[in-house]
Amino acid sequence: TLSGKTAIITGSNSGIGLGIARELARAGADVALNSFTDSEEDHALADGIAKEFGVSARYIQADMSKGEQCRKLIAKAGICDILINNAGIQHVAPIEEFPVDKWDAIIAINMSSAFHTTAAALPGMRARGWGRVINIASAHGLTASPYKSAYVAAKHGIVGMTKTVALETAEEAITANAICPGYVLTPLVEAQIPDTMKEYDMTREEVIKNVMLTRQPSREFATVEQIGGTATFLCSDAAAQITGTTISIDGGWTAL
Ligand code: NAD
Repeated sequence: TLSGKTAIITGSNSGIGLGIARELARAGADVALNSFTDSEEDHALADGIAKEFGVSARYIQADMSKGEQCRKLIAKAGICDILINNAGIQHVAPIEEFPVDKWDAIIAINMSSAFHTTAAALPGMRARGWGRVINIASAHGLTASPYKSAYVAAKHGIVGMTKTVALETAEEAITANAICPGYVLTPLVEAQIPDTMKEYDMTREEVIKNVMLTRQPSREFATVEQIGGTATFLCSDAAAQITGTTISIDGGWTAL
C-alpha cells in the first residue's frame, strides 16, 4: 500500500497522467494533479479521486514548459515522495519544415520539465529517506519514426536522464525509471478513430489493427490502467532494486 505517500503527476488532467493518478490513489497514495489550465473541471477531477479512493487529492496549476513553474509545482505540493513526469505534447513534420517554436516546446515540456521537477523533488526525498522518480517516456524513447524529430529526441533524452538520476541516487532508497508505452488509447488517440474510419472506409476494428497499430505486434492498445498499474508496481518494495532502466508496455513494438 502507498498510504502515507504523496505523488505528484505532471500533465494529469487527462489520458495516461490521470490514469496513473487514479491507480496510485487506488493504492492509497495522496495525489497532486497538474496541468497548465486552471478550470473547475480540473479541480473536480481531484475532488472525484479524493471521494472515490478516500485519499487526499488536489489540483495544482503549473505550466511544464517553464522551468520556474516546474520547480514551483514541487514547492507548492509540499511533499513529493513519488514524482511522475508525464506531461507531453507531439508535433509531426519533416525536420527541415519543423517549426522552431514546436521544437522548443516539445523539448521543454517532454524533457526539460523532468530535469526541473526532479532537481526540486530530490532533496525532500533524500530528507525523508525514500523516493520514486518515474518518467513517462515512450517506445519513441527507444526507437524512432520519421517526422517526429523533437518527440524522439526528447523521449531518448529523458531515458538518458533517468539513468543518470538512478546513478546519482543509487545508494539511497530512491529509484528512477522510465516507462515506455506503445500506443495507448487516450482521448487524444480515440478522437482520431472516427475520421480515419471515414477516410479509409474502414470499421473501427480495421482502423485500429491496420492503420494505428501496424507497429504494435499485439494489435491492441495499452490502457491507462496498465500504465498506472506498472507505475504502482515501481513504487512497491518488490521494485526497490529496479532502477535506471526502462519498462516497455508496447505489445512487442520494441521486440521487432
Ligand atoms: P494527453 O494529451 O491526454 O495528456 C497530456 C497531458 O499533458 C495533459 O494532461 C495535458 O494537459 C498535459 N500538458 C500538456 N502541456 C502541458 C504543459 N505545458 N504544462 C502542464 N501540462 C501539460 O496525452 P497522453 O497520451 O495521456 O500523454 C501523456 C504522456 O504519455 C506524454 O508524455 C506522451 O508523450 C506519453 N505517451 C503517450 C502515448 C500514447 O499513445 N497515448 C504513447 C507513449 C507515450
